[in-house]
Amino acid sequence: MKIENATQRFFPFSDAVSLRRSVPFFFSLSMETQRKLFLPLLFLSLFSTVGSSSIVDQAIRFRLAGGAAERSVPMRAGAPFKIALFADLHFGENAWTEWGPRQDVNSIRVMNTVLHLENPDFVIYLGDVITANNMMIANASLYWDQAISPARNRGIPWASVFGNHDDAAFEWPLEWFSAPGIPPIHCPQTTTSYNSGEEECSFKGTGRLELMANEIKHNGSFSSNGPRNLWPSVSNYVLQVSSPDDPPSPVAFLYFLDSGGGSYPQVISSGQVEWFQQKGQEINPDSRVPEIIFWHIPSTAYEVVAPKFAIQKPCIGSINKESVAAQEVEMGIMDLLVNRTSVKAIFVGHDHGLDWCCPYNKLWLCYARHTGYGGYGDWPRGARILEITQTPFSLKSWIRMEDGLVHSEVVLS
Ligand SMILES: [Zn+2]
Repeated sequence: MKIENATQRFFPFSDAVSLRRSVPFFFSLSMETQRKLFLPLLFLSLFSTVGSSSIVDQAIRFRLAGGAAERSVPMRAGAPFKIALFADLHFGENAWTEWGPRQDVNSIRVMNTVLHLENPDFVIYLGDVITANNMMIANASLYWDQAISPARNRGIPWASVFGNHDDAAFEWPLEWFSAPGIPPIHCPQTTTSYNSGEEECSFKGTGRLELMANEIKHNGSFSSNGPRNLWPSVSNYVLQVSSPDDPPSPVAFLYFLDSGGGSYPQVISSGQVEWFQQKGQEINPDSRVPEIIFWHIPSTAYEVVAPKFAIQKPCIGSINKESVAAQEVEMGIMDLLVNRTSVKAIFVGHDHGLDWCCPYNKLWLCYARHTGYGGYGDWPRGARILEITQTPFSLKSWIRMEDGLVHSEVVLS
């Protein structure tokens, strides 16, 4: 399938008219605030055009395997299946400064470098794609689109999960309340109701469902907004990696879970545990097919295996610069996973200063690597790579840095 007219579809504000339509709020701001916001928005706009120019006709490498229960991503014949994890990009950070948009440019560069060097078959955006609590715009999908553009522009299919910053409400910077004062933001007074005007000015954040609805409009997105009964937990779904010789038969299952945060607590609920159990029973009843798990906030089990000081065997990694900031409470997901022989590894982001993998019972608990220039921490940026081989099954991983270096290679299965 081709991306049709990517320049148009990719990003909606290629001219002032569509900008006005996309961000009506922008034009209701004072001139001063418009000036502050103009640079970040211009960056977004320019980027989208430049980034998409040479790849308009790139084909998206995906299809649905006939008869498969889950959406299926095919392996290429004669090659392992390679996945790049992009964690904690934090697009839109400090959007009102010049510094913020520059970080987004840097993050795009990191992703392009990794994609160029690794040429993966699939990309996983592992949460905190955007820093919504820094966004004074009505629709944060504008930044989300930009963050997924490196994969999209190359025709590489991708999937995403939510982190704790993706649908957070705007947090007013403390310094705005000191000497320089609050930037003169004029809330629209278009209606007779006092309340609706107030709502427009609250920068509530773009909800998970809306972000997801906007993402899955793109052809290359394999994300899903999950079963309704799990909402407000949204990014819960399974993908099947399929054999090139026999597309309906699964080589591995990739499970994506929403670990919460932002608009609701940082947990994987017992409802999600139940959903996982039922899904596993349905698609992998005898646990014959290996399973790999992705979510954003580490579970409390990560605290148990975390290296105390230096990273020593059996753990493998290169930075151990902070302590694990785990989910608020464990509600049964780890019990379920350690008792499923098919589960090989869990991958999370969230703690930017950690990039290790440690064994926990019969599975591995792994961090990705901080990919974005947004978000706290100045540790060099990179991306964790996974490589799945079919026969015999193996799961390998390493970290590819922005400067091209590879380290922390580990065999996880
Ligand atoms: Zn983060």
